[in-house]
Amino acid sequence: MPTRPCWVEINTRALEDNTRFLAALAAPHAQLLAIVKADAYGHSLSLCAPAVVRGGAQWLGVTSVEEGVAARAVCPQTRILVIGGVFPGQAADVLRHRLTPVVWEPWHLDELEAAARASGAQALPVHLELDTGMSRQGVQPADLAAILARFNASSPLRLEGVMTHLFAADEADGRVTQAQLGLTHQALDRIHDAGLQAEWLNVGNSAALLAGDAAAIAALAAERGMQALIRPGLALYGLPPKYDPAFQPEEPPTLHAARQQLRPVLAWKTRVVGVRSISAGAVVGYNGTFVATEPMRVALLAVGYADGLARGLGNHLSLLVRGQRAPLVGRISMDQCVVDVTEIPGVESGDEVVVLGTQGDQTISAFDHAEASGTIPWEVFTRIGPRVERVPV
Ligand SMILES: *Cc1c(COP(=O)(O)O)cnc(C)c1O
Repeated sequence: MPTRPCWVEINTRALEDNTRFLAALAAPHAQLLAIVKADAYGHSLSLCAPAVVRGGAQWLGVTSVEEGVAARAVCPQTRILVIGGVFPGQAADVLRHRLTPVVWEPWHLDELEAAARASGAQALPVHLELDTGMSRQGVQPADLAAILARFNASSPLRLEGVMTHLFAADEADGRVTQAQLGLTHQALDRIHDAGLQAEWLNVGNSAALLAGDAAAIAALAAERGMQALIRPGLALYGLPPKYDPAFQPEEPPTLHAARQQLRPVLAWKTRVVGVRSISAGAVVGYNGTFVATEPMRVALLAVGYADGLARGLGNHLSLLVRGQRAPLVGRISMDQCVVDVTEIPGVESGDEVVVLGTQGDQTISAFDHAEASGTIPWEVFTRIGPRVERVPV
């Protein structure tokens, strides 16, 4: 069925290539757990999960059991880690769909043990998250002994992995990461002393992988006879994170190579609905926040904030029309917006417009969207709304 022209193109080949590149960067230190949470950062889980598996990801990472069930439907064999934990009533689906939950609260263990016993499962592998300073998820050092005691011989739960989240790997001085790895080391000693042996040490995001932290994580894992898993998200979708403070005097070779190799996966497009001339003094959009100071040509586009184009971008970002930058003028409406095409000859109804992506030699990146609307690329991607169709190319 033809749709209103507001769509996202997903280059699954670029995603596969990005994954292959990141898997090679992680090797031989670590295997890749591809983060496909939040509908693959708004890129479509059903298109993206199979592509990252083709590119060499051994594991997928999703937020919830619901997302895990959706990932299992398209990837029957791959290991799937549920990083946001389980909620009451969800443990049966964990078993049925062979998901691997991250746990840290005692009630997570209660839920999973009860479901495992009810189903007669012999062993349900789980990954225990450590809070090494983010104060978000994960067991705190003071509670570690009590949680470890739960993994006794009578429990159907098996401690397969130990996980923590590096929350400042994009700070190039690496001080916070060093401290977190130190706390991880201490926790691994305590897990060893409790007589437990996990297989996987599951640490690090895109910023950690591209900063070259995989070797340090792998060394920590090897000391305890474990293998390292590293969990990139944003880099899979073609964006190396920005580091602040930046690397001085130069970037590590891993990050340099990533800048050369990674390709954006997503392009967001719409079309010109109509073009009109306005005279000096005319206003554009709600409350007339844009006033023409001279005669202009403006084009109406079929994209608005209900599609995920942040309302704050009105008067603050340009989109691409006929390979040139066309500034957004006036407020963005729910379903529409207007761009200035005075300097762009020949614009007409039906012209393809790039909201995010490349046209000719011009690019509007997710960082451009983020910087113009006071947020980060992760939010730019994930707020692209469900009514915007994701089309594989
Ligand atoms: C989202 C997430 C990641 C991936 O982060 P990126 O910065 O996108 O690479 C890794 N680990 C956890 C626990 C996450 O929640």
